[in-house]
This record gives sequence, C-alpha cells and structure tokens, in this order.
Amino acid sequence: MSGHDMTRRRAIEVGGIAAAASLAAGGAAALGQARAPAATGQPMPDDVSLPSQPPRAPRPGSVGFAIIGLGDYALNQIMPRFARSERTHIAALVSGNPDKLRQVGEAYGVAPEARYSYERFDEIAANPAVEAVYIILPSGLHAEWTERAFAAGKHVLCEKPMALTSAECERMIAAGQRANRRLMIAYRVHFEPYNMAAMDLMREKAVGDLRLIRTEHSYRAGPSTPATNWRHNRALAGGGPLEDYGLYGLQATLYLSGEMPTRISASAHRPEGDPRFSEIFAHVAAQLHFPSGAVAQVVTSYDSAGLNLVEARGNAGALVMRPATNYNGNTLSLETGRDGRKLEPGDSEVQFAGQLNHFAAAIRDGAPIITPGEMGLRDLRLIEAIYASATSGRTVALNPDATMRG
Ligand code: NAD
Repeated sequence: MSGHDMTRRRAIEVGGIAAAASLAAGGAAALGQARAPAATGQPMPDDVSLPSQPPRAPRPGSVGFAIIGLGDYALNQIMPRFARSERTHIAALVSGNPDKLRQVGEAYGVAPEARYSYERFDEIAANPAVEAVYIILPSGLHAEWTERAFAAGKHVLCEKPMALTSAECERMIAAGQRANRRLMIAYRVHFEPYNMAAMDLMREKAVGDLRLIRTEHSYRAGPSTPATNWRHNRALAGGGPLEDYGLYGLQATLYLSGEMPTRISASAHRPEGDPRFSEIFAHVAAQLHFPSGAVAQVVTSYDSAGLNLVEARGNAGALVMRPATNYNGNTLSLETGRDGRKLEPGDSEVQFAGQLNHFAAAIRDGAPIITPGEMGLRDLRLIEAIYASATSGRTVALNPDATMRG
C-alpha cells in the first residue's frame, strides 16, 4: 500500500468518506479535486521597482540561482535581497512572459541566454552557472517544478507552502534524493531575529510552563475570483488562507512549543454566493493539543480586518508578537507579572539574506538545513489533519510524525 493509499485508508477510519475525499485532494479539502494548470506568463505586477543598475559581480564561490516565477514576491522582496547575500547571486530567470523576462533580465544583468521560458526550462541542465533554483510560483505548481529542477540536476529552494498535499511533498523529497540534490523550504521567519529570539525565550522557559498559544493571520481580500487571482483558485492555492497565511501561525505553534500536537480539532467556513470563495475557504480555525497539556489556536482568514498575531502564555508570563511574521516591523514583548519588556533583537531585513546564505552553506559545505523538505511535509500533514477534522466534525488523533492515527 502506498503512503497515499495509507493516508486515504486512515482518513476513512478517522473521518469517513468525506474526509477521505478531502485528503485525496489535499488542501483543496472538502472542495473537491482540482488539477493545477500549466505555468503561464503573467504581466509585470504593479509597483515593481527594478534596480537602476545591475548588481555587482558575484564573489568567488557564490551559488548561482535561477528564479522561477517573476511575480510580486520574487520581484519586490526576494530578488532585491540577493544584493545582501554574499554567498548567492541571480544567474538565470524563468518566466512565461517574454517582455517581463527581458525587462527584468536587463535590470538584473542576466544575459539573454540565461533567460528561459517555461517551455525551454529543461535546457537549464546544460547551464553550469545555475546550481540552484528558487521556486516562487503559485503553490499548486511547486511540486511539478521542484521535480523538473531536480531532473535538471539543480538544488531547490521552494517557497512555502511546500505543495498542496503531503503526497506531493513525499514525491519532491524522493526526487531530491534520487538526484542527490538539496531541498529547502523558504520558511523565512526561521532566519528572522524577532522569531529567533522568541524561540530562544521559549526554550529558556521565559513564560514558565507553556499553557496557551494563540495565532491569527488574517486580511480582507479584494474582489478577486479564481480566474483573476490564483490565491482564490483551489488548483493553485488548495483550501486558501491556511496554506498561504495561516501556515505562519501553524509553524509558530510548533517552534514556540517545541512539541508536536497529538490531537487537532478544526472548522473551516466558505460563505455561499461570494465569488472570492467559490473554490476556497474564507476562514479556518484549528485547535492543537500538545502532549504537555498546552493548547494552541490557529486562526486564519481572507475576509476579516488584518491581524498578524502570535501570543504564547505560560504560568509565569506571556510573549506577544504583533505583528509577528512580517517582512519588517515585527514586535516582541515579554510580559511577566507587572513588567512588560519590549525586545528589539535585530533588523528583520536580515531574514532574506540569512535564508539564502543558509542554503548556500548547505550546498557548498554540506551543512544541515533547518527548514528541509521534511518540515514542509510535516506541515502539509498537519494541514490535511486540520481539513480532515473540519470536514468530519471530529477530533483527529496524530502520530508523532503528524500522520493521522488509524
Ligand atoms: P504572484 O501572483 O505575485 O506571482 C506568481 C507568479 O507565478 C506570476 O507572476 C507568474 O509569473 C507565475 N505564474 C506561472 N504560472 C502561473 C499561473 N498558472 N497562474 C498565476 N501565476 C503564474 O504570487 P506571489 O505572491 O509572488 O507568490 C508566489 C509564491 O511565493 C507562492 O507560493 C506564495 O505562497 C509565496 N510567497 C511567500 C511569501 C513569504 O513571505 N515567504 C510571501 C509571498 C508569497
């Protein structure tokens, strides 16, 4: 029996046929199966400011990356931050929009022969200047492009969520092993000073024994539809806000508690008649129960006033982060008794270069990856358990590796 069949069988035992169907569709949950479309060219996003001059020449030993997908996050956040990473540089670009490819290539000093269309991507195997690819495509395309990049002999840094189902994650990990190449998931907050300080404080029991964690990652989506915005399209986004934004809260419950949940109960809501939510959920709320007795709430919404909050409460104090997981502007305060202490552990900006340098160290020096494919797989298993509970209306019991207990 394959892992996937096993998951189906467990789902039937845990939550009945409906939950099994939802698991087979992964993050698409109770919303049915959907097949991801092909990668296609999209226009230049709004408000992109391209560099006025090409970056400096790479340092000796720097790892050359191909960027796959020239969307908002790639162009506005990731690509400009390569300038601050001394161990990596942009060596190639992959896009389905020839005009955007030319414009971005010229701005970043990427030669025409290192600009690839999706159709020509496999030729990248013959380009030794590219050692790694950074996949910044819609989430439903991560698995396919990770496998293609491994087949081309490249290392893969893949955006979060790793994929939309645990079965896809398992395939991605296996493809990396077959190719003998490294796989890292771009969970940037593991390199962000406020979150790193919060992890240290929790390890030092700064709040005493942990009792409660509360996380919320919400915003109100504009008038998008599955046709106009991939984040509303279940083939590309799974169940929606949980995979995209709530995942930060789910992650925080694990790295702050240092535990894996043994039980999960959850609900997910899709309002009728709202075109934004014809294919995805508007809100998801999950409760995670940890072996220590601590309980965590993970709430996420695409249809409520914006909030980015992580809070951990123990029997001796509380740690509050609001916002907690942004690109910058995060806050961290430690409240014990009557004292409130605001901490400023560093510049959030370093998370981007930190992530790139970490992957370069893995490739060059064989260093361990702190956010490997196995972490992405773990998180997709938890997401599937959340949807299984939401679909069945029952609490789902978990094994330590986050698979559902039969
Ligand atoms: P985006 O829509 O701005 O960009 C996606 C790009 O993918 C498009 O520009 C297009 O060039 C390309 N694409 C190829 N095929 C496509 C298709 N069929 N439909 C739509 N686009 C297609 O999205 P984004 O915000 O840049 O997100 C891309 C990825 O990065 C997602 O996986 C997302 O979860 C992740 N992300 C991560 C963070 C973070 O903080 N780590 C932040 C934002 C986005």
